[in-house]
Amino acid sequence: MKLGIITLFPELFEAFLTVGVVGRAVARGLVKTKIFNPREFTQDVHRAVDDRPFGGGPGMVMMALPLLDAIISAKAWMQAENVLHPKVVYLSPAGDKWTQAKAKSWASPGQGIVFLLGRYEGIDERVMSQVDACISIGDYILSGGEIPAQVCIETILRLLPGVLHDPLSAEQDAFSNADGILDCPHYTRPQVLTHDSLVTPMGVPEVLLGGNHEIIRCWRRKQALGQTWEKRPDLLENKFLDKEAKSLLAEFEQEFEQEFNKQA
Ligand code: SAM
Repeated sequence: MKLGIITLFPELFEAFLTVGVVGRAVARGLVKTKIFNPREFTQDVHRAVDDRPFGGGPGMVMMALPLLDAIISAKAWMQAENVLHPKVVYLSPAGDKWTQAKAKSWASPGQGIVFLLGRYEGIDERVMSQVDACISIGDYILSGGEIPAQVCIETILRLLPGVLHDPLSAEQDAFSNADGILDCPHYTRPQVLTHDSLVTPMGVPEVLLGGNHEIIRCWRRKQALGQTWEKRPDLLENKFLDKEAKSLLAEFEQEFEQEFNKQA
């Protein structure tokens, strides 16, 4: 996979591209990245990349020419890397909402994506003529597209074959699992947790210690369905649930109600 990143702040990608899952994808050669700084494509002595908005008003706007040149340069690099049809993606609060489903559909080894990152009040609208897709990471405003692009890149790279130590972990993650719902709770050692901040020692659900894989699978599915029902009921709306899922969820709801009544 090839990723071009058009940003005024390349330094924000230094650690990001070398650490953790993303760093591993780069080190293993599963993704190749190149940064394009619009400042390198300016013609004037001050290397200006922004100017005041026509019509007046607050803030500055990123100028079209350095961005258009940066896009051409990123596309030329993609061609040299044998990616003939890269996607140019602008990160914008006005874009389509980023989802795990979108990450999955873009996570293909042959794919080339040029991320265009805005700053200030955004980019000159005429640059949009060269943009294939617009992505928002949520209904809030960041100062630049760097963090949104990193969100997209990390979610995509986690799904590329060979990046995660155990591909099963991505298959069990929230939104990616077979039911498309939240993940179940996880526990690790110590088996009994004691700490000054805890009123009583805390154990681990007995079922996880028994070693019966089928019972553990059912327990995990029940918890995942239950957590989703409790915290994100919207994910269950219009969802087809098979017979087992319906019965596990009914059990969870019953136990939840009993616990609620006990505490009331
Ligand atoms: N005036 C713009 C508006 O209201 O839409 C906000 C510009 S914002 C301060 C600067 C840049 O940050 C944007 O051009 C975009 O690249 C990026 N950005 C900010 N919030 C974002 C979000 N929620 N999703 C994706 N990109 C975002």
